[in-house]
Amino acid sequence: MNRASPDQGMPLSHQHRRQLLRLLLAFTAFFGAIFVVVNFFAERYWLMTIEAALVLLVLLMLPIVQGTYHLRRWCLFYLVSLYAATIYALASPTTSITVFSWVMVMPITAHLLLGRRWGGLFSAFYLAVAGGLFLWRFGTALVVSSPGATANVLAVTAWGYMFSHFYEARRESAERELSQQALTDPLTGLPNRAQLEQAFQRAAGEGALPLSLLMLDLDYFKRINDAHGHATGDAVLRRIAETLREQTRQQDVACRLGGEEFCVLLPRTDVSQARHLAERLRAVIEALRCHHNDAVLALTASIGVACTTTPGEQLDPMLHIADKKLYEAKFGGRNRVVY
Ligand code: GH3
Ligand code: MG
Ligand code: MG
Repeated sequence: MNRASPDQGMPLSHQHRRQLLRLLLAFTAFFGAIFVVVNFFAERYWLMTIEAALVLLVLLMLPIVQGTYHLRRWCLFYLVSLYAATIYALASPTTSITVFSWVMVMPITAHLLLGRRWGGLFSAFYLAVAGGLFLWRFGTALVVSSPGATANVLAVTAWGYMFSHFYEARRESAERELSQQALTDPLTGLPNRAQLEQAFQRAAGEGALPLSLLMLDLDYFKRINDAHGHATGDAVLRRIAETLREQTRQQDVACRLGGEEFCVLLPRTDVSQARHLAERLRAVIEALRCHHNDAVLALTASIGVACTTTPGEQLDPMLHIADKKLYEAKFGGRNRVVY
């Protein structure tokens, strides 16, 4: 049987963070191995051992991160291991001052792997420790004697921090916008079928029984398009969406399934309450007058009602029942509710 991808149903960032982590692991293994050799010849055996352990660790992590469902934890584990190894190198009295150049890439690495908030906090902590170690090893005399070099290092580090922080903030808001778009009907702004699916699962998971569903289809809508044009038809659909929003409760989810078909999910609503709401909606739509350009349009809707009291009920069978009732309402002469 095919195993679902571990990134399925996860935020978009999961996929690219997984690829990035694998790339970083491969890089760490490669450069770590070079440093093992360098430190062997420099007779820094403790540092060499730590680096060899890091290389081994990242090589072991490589196959794991490919399929893990706990990507965030592995990102954190990698960063902590890398940070610990570099902090040890920074603190070793025999390493060169250039080892501090690693500090500059850490904010970027942490932000890309952990996101704006945790990456920001993690890097701030790391930078504070690295700054402390620098002063401890070289004292303030070096800072004072080479203000240009100090300014360069500080500027590049702050640059990396700000750049990655800004990039992550923009990426996170773009991701939020994209997910919102994927769940919204662009014409009416109502939730779409995908969001209905989520809302249904949430309501069913919370045990919000009895759970009712209204399926609403506008009657002879094609005639409006034919007589007044598609733009007028669109305006009517938007007006209906507005009506559904106004007439439903906070806990209800009114969505557009497609075309001139709408659906309202009613948590904690029995069939009699659902029927009353459906009747009210039908009457409000019948009384509605849609003004568009010079046209004043009246229309009606047919509504099918489905209700369940079964825990663990699925959306598709409910939609199927509501659709059958809707068909009966159409067949029975339209502008009516069938339950
Ligand atoms: P019935 O009472 O049997 O439901 O008749 P109807 O005319 O409402 O149903 P039919 O399925 O024959 O036609 C639906 C029409 O809805 C056809 C299509 O042009 C129109 N439609 C679907 N989506 C849109 C849309 O996004 N905008 C506009 N303006 N019209 C749409
Ligand atoms: Mg219709
Ligand atoms: Mg239809």
